[in-house]
Amino acid sequence: MNISIAILMALTIVAGCGNKSDVISTVSPVPTTTGGATTAPTVSPSVGATPTTIPTASSTAAATATAKPSSSPAASPAASNTPPKNGAVQVIAKPESITALVNKQNALPSSYEPTDLVYPNIAFTFSEKIDKRKMRQVAATAIEKLFAGAAKDGVPLAGVSAYRSYATQKALFDSYVKKDGEEKAKTYSAVPGTSEHETGLAIDVTGSNGKCAAADCFGGTKEAIWLEKHAGEYGFIIRYPQGKAAITGYQYEPWHLRYVGADIANEIQAKNLTMEEYYHTVPVSK
Ligand SMILES: [Zn+2]
Repeated sequence: MNISIAILMALTIVAGCGNKSDVISTVSPVPTTTGGATTAPTVSPSVGATPTTIPTASSTAAATATAKPSSSPAASPAASNTPPKNGAVQVIAKPESITALVNKQNALPSSYEPTDLVYPNIAFTFSEKIDKRKMRQVAATAIEKLFAGAAKDGVPLAGVSAYRSYATQKALFDSYVKKDGEEKAKTYSAVPGTSEHETGLAIDVTGSNGKCAAADCFGGTKEAIWLEKHAGEYGFIIRYPQGKAAITGYQYEPWHLRYVGADIANEIQAKNLTMEEYYHTVPVSK
């Protein structure tokens, strides 16, 4: 594989949802991938240790031909994404698709702004009526049902953070770059355009007591266990499951839910897949 991809991934397998959020700036190609020449920035010596099961440009391309029959062509990432080139970050062609695959290789256009954002009627860990409460209509309706179902089972939940605009993520990332430099910033923040929070289809949740919000200690809580079991019924998946960091590019984030619709969510949950595996953008090793 292209060494620069390995470098990129080594630098970017980080937590995606915390206060330091998940997005990075431009969708411009990774600087080290074109030509052999190289603007190669500082090559970290630890690169060799990076797992190399990360999706490559060619494996992503293969996915285009193998969209699941269960998803309509219009909704499949295959239809949403142009074929990747040599490690460059691809700009998603149909960012409004509820099944758009957004990850470190597939970024939303900088101009994308969902047109149907609403305030879901659920509890949050804060009281302000601000952007991060918002979700797209279909996801808002679904999260209301999910929260109601959880409460009925004695597991009340609270939202921590949902929508985040490209501009907000860029401002955040840029501030980290200013403080620590780009290479370091990428180790704990995500490039603008690559955060699922920008889709309006993702939300970080926690227990209604607000403890362990977007933190590792959320794993194993009754709320996390309930979500593992029931999120799919409501059309959501645990987007960054445990043990799949080499595939998703993110450590386990039991609090980060992504809406994809119940059919796909149930299948992904039942088969213990990631979205990348579901769409065959990486070899499924199991
Ligand atoms: Zn998140």
